[in-house]
Amino acid sequence: MKDATGNPQTRHWQALGHAHHLPPFSDYRQLKEHGPRIITRASGVYLWDSEGNCILDGMAGLWCVNVGYGREELVEAASRQMRELPYYNLFFQTAHPPAVELARAIAELAPPGMHHVFFTGSGSEANDTVLRLVRHYWAIKGQPRKNVVIGRWNGYHGSTVAGASLGGMKAMHGQGDLPIPGIEHIDQPYWFGEGGGLDPEAFGIRVADQLERKILEIGEERVAAFIAEPIQGAGGVIIPPDSYWPRIREILRKYDILFAADEVVCGFGRTGEWFGSQYYGLEPDLMAIAKGLTSGYLPMGGVVVRDRIVEVLEEGGEFYHGFTYSGHPVAAALALENIRLLREEGIVERVRTRTGPYLQRRWRELAEHPLVGEVRGLGMLAALELVKDKKTRERFPADLAAGMRCREHCFANGLVMRAVGDTMIVAPPLVISEAEIDELIAKARHCLDLTASEMPG
Ligand SMILES: *Cc1c(COP(=O)(O)O)cnc(C)c1O
Repeated sequence: MKDATGNPQTRHWQALGHAHHLPPFSDYRQLKEHGPRIITRASGVYLWDSEGNCILDGMAGLWCVNVGYGREELVEAASRQMRELPYYNLFFQTAHPPAVELARAIAELAPPGMHHVFFTGSGSEANDTVLRLVRHYWAIKGQPRKNVVIGRWNGYHGSTVAGASLGGMKAMHGQGDLPIPGIEHIDQPYWFGEGGGLDPEAFGIRVADQLERKILEIGEERVAAFIAEPIQGAGGVIIPPDSYWPRIREILRKYDILFAADEVVCGFGRTGEWFGSQYYGLEPDLMAIAKGLTSGYLPMGGVVVRDRIVEVLEEGGEFYHGFTYSGHPVAAALALENIRLLREEGIVERVRTRTGPYLQRRWRELAEHPLVGEVRGLGMLAALELVKDKKTRERFPADLAAGMRCREHCFANGLVMRAVGDTMIVAPPLVISEAEIDELIAKARHCLDLTASEMPG
């Protein structure tokens, strides 16, 4: 490391990381030059780093700490379960109380007709399970060739081979010969970036119609499923135009293919509904869940499955699929308690009626900033676009790295705001208060000013 900074303790941890740790989604060359920021503790919506700085976590970790940090109830639920039964598996006709009780709790919250859950250890594993399940489903129905899944460019479905293939991140596809065969992509409903001269609603219809064209091109008899996030998270909090989901629904009704909603970000209250599918009135056949399921306190994911699919699976005998930690009892007990908190404290309700609208109202004030070409958001999700020219939506040259600069200013000034290219995004803990939202907006505005002062023109 060239410029190790900070106190001796920070330098020690940075040196250990440098010597032994390969972190996820990190530029290893850059990390060699600048040691990572070391986060040591957290409470509510705040993080503390090893230098003693307090940082408002505008990203809820990675979109997951829905109930905020430091909830003793979750610690208690996990330790109680650890003492009772720290581990047992669910393979070969066994079960334990936390897994089946959690499955029921999720079924109660899910859209009608979705009463079963297959548990995994993560969101990526959930989407791997989606791929295997939909292919298995059609094979049982005597259509093994109906095995192609359609995803979307710039969608994110995780980092395993199937997850990255279903997703449409070209940089990920560029490493390791992805996507695997049998996966196709259509365009995303990203009006600001790709809408050109169309108005947003016309653009929404145009990209939705690509689904029908793709089905016809591949052949309905070959298409197993369509997978999409109700709102794209990692792609840049992309809120589709209002015309988009109704048109997609029309197309899905017309053809005999399954629909998998990736609810890993939207699920468990982020939109102000329990699931993004409920916000948009979607009727998924499968829903991938993770992140907010445990508020990130322990790793866990799952796939919520529609009854008519379960009926077919029951005809198919053994499903040769599962994970050592599927339905892990400690994670399941914690998730149950997390859901109890979300329900009994009215956290999702508050996002829908109070703090979500408040965040959106305050966030929209940032639209006046000279650097901001668009603001958008819903519930506890929000994005803004950094531009050189507000009218033409022209971007800054990529080598200026406006988004990364803005992100660095935020971190240095006590706010985590993520950059996806030059799109700045936030997804704070659902428990964030109105005063904390004011603080988030004030810090974001200050960091936009700092970024603007470094931009030419
Ligand atoms: C994070 C994420 C995943 C992957 O979940 P992991 O737990 O990181 O494997 C999948 N889909 C979406 C929409 C995500 O945001």
